[in-house]
Amino acid sequence: MSGLAWLALSLSACDGESSGGLTAGPSKAPSQAQSASLVVTGARVWTGDPEMPWSEAVAAAGDAIVAVGSASDIAPLIGDGTELIVADGGMLVPGFIDTHVHFLAGGSSIASVQLRDAQTPGEFVRRIEAFAETAGPGEWITDGAWDHTNWGGELPRRDWIDAVTPDNPVWVSRLDGHMALANSLALQQAGVDADTPDVAGGEIVRDGDGRPTGILKDNAMVLVQEAIPKPTERQLDSYLDAAMQYVAKNGVTTVHDMSDGIADGWIGLETYRRAEARGDLITRIYAVTPLGEWRRLKDDIGRNGRGNEWLQTGGVKGFMDGSLGSHTAAMLAPFTDTPQDSGFLLDSLENLRVMMTGADAAGLQLNIHAIGDKAIRDLLDIFLDVASENGKRDRRLRMEHAQHIHPDDIPRFAVQGVIASMQPYHAIDDGRWAEAVIGAERARTTYAFKSLLESGAHVVLGSDWYVAPADPIAGIYAAVTRRTLDGENSNGWVPEQKITVEEALRGYTCEGAYASFEEDRKGMIKAGMLADMVLIDRDLTAIPPETIRDAKVLKTIVGGRVVYSR
Ligand SMILES: [Zn+2]
Repeated sequence: MSGLAWLALSLSACDGESSGGLTAGPSKAPSQAQSASLVVTGARVWTGDPEMPWSEAVAAAGDAIVAVGSASDIAPLIGDGTELIVADGGMLVPGFIDTHVHFLAGGSSIASVQLRDAQTPGEFVRRIEAFAETAGPGEWITDGAWDHTNWGGELPRRDWIDAVTPDNPVWVSRLDGHMALANSLALQQAGVDADTPDVAGGEIVRDGDGRPTGILKDNAMVLVQEAIPKPTERQLDSYLDAAMQYVAKNGVTTVHDMSDGIADGWIGLETYRRAEARGDLITRIYAVTPLGEWRRLKDDIGRNGRGNEWLQTGGVKGFMDGSLGSHTAAMLAPFTDTPQDSGFLLDSLENLRVMMTGADAAGLQLNIHAIGDKAIRDLLDIFLDVASENGKRDRRLRMEHAQHIHPDDIPRFAVQGVIASMQPYHAIDDGRWAEAVIGAERARTTYAFKSLLESGAHVVLGSDWYVAPADPIAGIYAAVTRRTLDGENSNGWVPEQKITVEEALRGYTCEGAYASFEEDRKGMIKAGMLADMVLIDRDLTAIPPETIRDAKVLKTIVGGRVVYSR
């Protein structure tokens, strides 16, 4: 074993030796005096606890796990007041932690026009037309999550939809959120026309006469976003409710909310606080707020603290670059399909360095989006500067996405202690077309789950919902098989980067807890931990990998309470 690998093993949250420490003791024989409020038995229990990875039954009292053991160990804890769940086989795992969602935007997307699987321009237009018929006059039609690669790559234009949306401004985004289509009414209300100058770090796509086609990319999207009226508190509460119900159905008990995507980036935290005060949260939330406003978060923590086990703050989200699908990822060398273009950074390195150094000095956690190999390298360099400037501490720097890594930079994650926060579902989605954009050589270290794990890095997994479904079982399937969504690549796209089911489970449980400094309270099934668990209808480690996606969540338990039952 290399020295590096040993170092990483000793630091891994899932090995019980993380720097935050584990307050929970080993599972002990339960006391006969008390009965449990909840007992789950009958399924194989994957605990995530390296001292006892598999078990048979779990007991909880109130919101915490009190005992894990054999069925006969736990039986004496079953009393009159115990809610007893007897599974017919299957698997019980720690509640899934989705480490990258845009929670309210996801909630609102459930309620909006559905364009993700529109396979032709005609279908795209028909769906917008049908939705507009249900919308009130003047109401904005947003979200959509369209994908122009479904019909060969022609970008949609406002003249496709103007005739079917005369009374509603339309602002529908591509599924990666890095470009969107406005209809003429939306452009008019936003004051965008042929005379509008381009925006640094973005693009107004124009026709031959210089008029906007309706497509705005990255920073230019702000021009229209600013014209959209702010959702009401009632709407926001309904988005949150829809989001929590949806993730509970998929076994998610904690989300790390990356905030951007709806309004000003603080509306999420305000909405979650209202729900928390009412006792309405059924999903635990680590609410990350914008890097550019790190001082506001510092002041907020000074007044309100960092929250509790339902709702926590302390992280800031920033951006290095855009996305591969929009050709706005910052690459070291040009894109294979557009040899004059290598993407771009969204801000100057100096601005980014100053903001990150300030936020880090305030004790905040950096969660920074980097997709292209240049963005990744530049961010690793900035992280080095931040750490040397501000001195040693348990800062758990996070790189969000870490998609296209130059091979030379892979070992730096473990060496610098940078968490790779990645989304396996993107791999089987992008895998359909990414090789055309970056070529075969760069594809080999794209979504490099295995290389990162072998290097000793912390790899934490999530969805990027609304961009992709917040469905950890689909994510595990993606990470384990790398079978692309188009049914090609039956042995996996870049198969050497496939990981095992247990590696993927750790990425969605104990490693996720580590990524928000909460590994002493969640991410394992172990006495003393919060009783967040998911019952799945089959043992994911014992079935052919290609059938993992057929597995169903039967029950989701948060804080000892069943919040979803199939
Ligand atoms: Zn995201």
